[in-house]
Amino acid sequence: MTSAGIVIIGSGMCGGNAAVTLREEGYRGRVVLVGDEAAAPFGRPPLSKTYLRGEEDWTAWSVKPPDWYEQSNVERLHGRVESIDVQAREIVLEGSHKRTAFDRLLLTTGGRNRRLPADGSTLPGVLGLRTVDECDAIKERALPGSRAVVVGMGFIGSEVAASLRTLGVSVSAVLSGVGPLAGVLGDQVGSVMAAIHREKGVELLLDDRVVAFTGDGHVENVVTSRGSTVPCDFAVTGIGIEPNVELARRSGIAVDNGIIVDEQCRTNVANVYAAGDVANHLHPIFGRLRVEHFNNAERQGRAAARSMLGSTEPYSDLHSFWSDQYEHALEYVGHARSWDQFVVRGSLEQRQFLGFYLGDGRVLAVMGLNRGGDPELDESGELAAAKVLVGKRLGVSPASLEDERTDLHSLCA
Ligand SMILES: Cc1cc2nc3c(=O)[nH]c(=O)nc-3n(C[C@H](O)[C@H](O)[C@H](O)COP(=O)(O)OP(=O)(O)OC[C@H]3O[C@@H](n4cnc5c(N)ncnc54)[C@H](O)[C@@H]3O)c2cc1C
Repeated sequence: MTSAGIVIIGSGMCGGNAAVTLREEGYRGRVVLVGDEAAAPFGRPPLSKTYLRGEEDWTAWSVKPPDWYEQSNVERLHGRVESIDVQAREIVLEGSHKRTAFDRLLLTTGGRNRRLPADGSTLPGVLGLRTVDECDAIKERALPGSRAVVVGMGFIGSEVAASLRTLGVSVSAVLSGVGPLAGVLGDQVGSVMAAIHREKGVELLLDDRVVAFTGDGHVENVVTSRGSTVPCDFAVTGIGIEPNVELARRSGIAVDNGIIVDEQCRTNVANVYAAGDVANHLHPIFGRLRVEHFNNAERQGRAAARSMLGSTEPYSDLHSFWSDQYEHALEYVGHARSWDQFVVRGSLEQRQFLGFYLGDGRVLAVMGLNRGGDPELDESGELAAAKVLVGKRLGVSPASLEDERTDLHSLCA
């Protein structure tokens, strides 16, 4: 490799982990990490949970302490990359004519909040959540007795609703389907989550959608398609993200629901790689997919760094994520966009169960509610066994999955 070194665009969880891995793997060339957020790379999970509730500082989720970068000779550039010249192998920062050269380039530009196409969605008090500043704007308003409407009850919306309730905010939520997370985890789990949120005092407007935000200089009401008008002091929309692909597209890098990469995180342009929320990756087991999870941002960032250093190992992480809402802990391993059978081990009513998503008799994914923690940390746990079932794509009888007396590890052979 020549002296231009490696440039990473995007200094989030993924970019940060890629930079760390380059140094851990002994790469001694130049490393430049460019990002338009001022903070050193950190994980966003506390922004909808502990930091939002004032229980923990987000800096506890830093990839490395801020001085690690200087000590490790990783240059951090603060700014937005405007263009990439893939022929000349140079990037240009917005508002600057200075060009930074690269031998290898990694795009970890993540995503931005999707805007709700509803009247009044730009009114002050209609908030999104991705950055620390956006979280601070919610925190400022999350006073006991204030009224919030949460729009969308996917992971971010559900966690925000739970945190706001914990802070004493009155919460109404407008969502499609039968309950929170139903779109990702199915109707049975959605109904369990609906019961949990209702019990905690969240008013759920199910199977509904927001058509307008109204108010005099500030959001005061949320109007829904079923005809409800919900008064509020602020609203938080959590309706998903759009991958930040424009820079790649302008540079001739192939894009389709994210930046298209192969098994080793390589784009269609030589020496240009992508990873994290922005990458549409060819997974060796699941096929082509783009996911938006912390664990993937970390692990795929690391894998892309190794690829840039010459590794030919495909990135094959089985994907996993978690969510904390009130006292309930949810874990998920695998990937199932659709399934033909959902098998429950444990009790939906008691909110302690594993749910197996099966396709053609094989375990595609497993979720657990209050059924033990991170499969990486507890190898003897059920979720670790579940992960093996997913990885091996084993055909397992639903009856044995359901039966608590059957040790899941015994099904993994
Ligand atoms: C509030 C919240 C809570 C979450 N909680 C969980 C959780 O509990 N569990 C879980 O699994 N996942 C969670 N996630 C998802 C997880 O945080 C994301 O998957 C992760 O942040 C993706 O990391 P990334 O580095 O790929 O992208 P990002 O975090 O989006 O980082 C990309 C960075 O690139 C920058 N950038 C973009 N374009 C340019 C450019 N042209 N020039 C310079 N910089 C640029 C962006 O500003 C950003 O700083 C949560 C997300 C949020 C928002």
